[in-house]
Amino acid sequence: MNDDSQTGRYAPAKRSLGQNFLVDPNISRKIVDALDLKPGDRVLEIGPGRGALTRHVADRAPGRYVVLEMDDALADELERQYPGIEVVRGDAMAYPWGRLLQEDDWKIVGNLPYNIASPLIWDIVSQAAFARAVFMVQLEAGQRLVAGPGGRDYGALSVFVQSHAQAELLFKVPPQVFRPQPKVTSAVLRFFLHPQRPTQVDAMRLSSTLRMCFQQRRKQLGTILKSKNIPCFAALLQSLDIDPMQRPETLAPERFQALAKLLPSDFLA
Ligand code: SAM
Repeated sequence: MNDDSQTGRYAPAKRSLGQNFLVDPNISRKIVDALDLKPGDRVLEIGPGRGALTRHVADRAPGRYVVLEMDDALADELERQYPGIEVVRGDAMAYPWGRLLQEDDWKIVGNLPYNIASPLIWDIVSQAAFARAVFMVQLEAGQRLVAGPGGRDYGALSVFVQSHAQAELLFKVPPQVFRPQPKVTSAVLRFFLHPQRPTQVDAMRLSSTLRMCFQQRRKQLGTILKSKNIPCFAALLQSLDIDPMQRPETLAPERFQALAKLLPSDFLA
């Protein structure tokens, strides 16, 4: 394992930017393998850092390779090392995903900073077009992203992301392969967008519905809708074949999508 921070080429890792750098080339290769790159593919990498994934992507001769890095010093070093790639300096959370990634042949990859991974994946699956995405996240976030109804991990994140994409946990990654070492285990996930995604309006309605329901996840759906003064809530649930005694944590993503379409707009904040 190489650790360039010991050679003085790089400044110390910044905790505020979630900088835990991968130093095991076998894991890097495995992550990039999951992208199934073909020569000429267009790739966008989030948070390339010291280039643990970058060198493996660059080796596969992408047609276009854009990297998005918030740390200017690391961005400068990447530009120096990889003259062929397009380095964008900035915050991935502020990236206009819907405007810039409109064609579905992009492949997106990133060993994501833990603190922004879940909201970033939320935004990307609902706004960007892409052929596949492979992200490393904290294991707990990964388990929430792939959780099915009924379990402790199932919540708004699971429903929203799975309404837009098929999410699959590929493998776990131990803390020992990072410098500095995080306190937690990580997981690599792969995402394929559903051919029919909710429209932007439906996605906003779904998001509001999920907020309403999962704020009170232990309550029954009938009780939640009644507490929000939603008119004719019993008939509404019946029309969707949803038992009013059901709790949000047991309702499948398709049922939430159907519910979100029928709830009166005035009640969706
Ligand atoms: N890909 C590298 C690796 O695997 O070793 C670095 C991964 S490190 C966990 C996360 C990277 O994302 C860092 O390089 C950090 O500077 C960058 N980063 C942190 N917050 C970011 C943000 N909001 N937008 C873009 N990049 C960010």
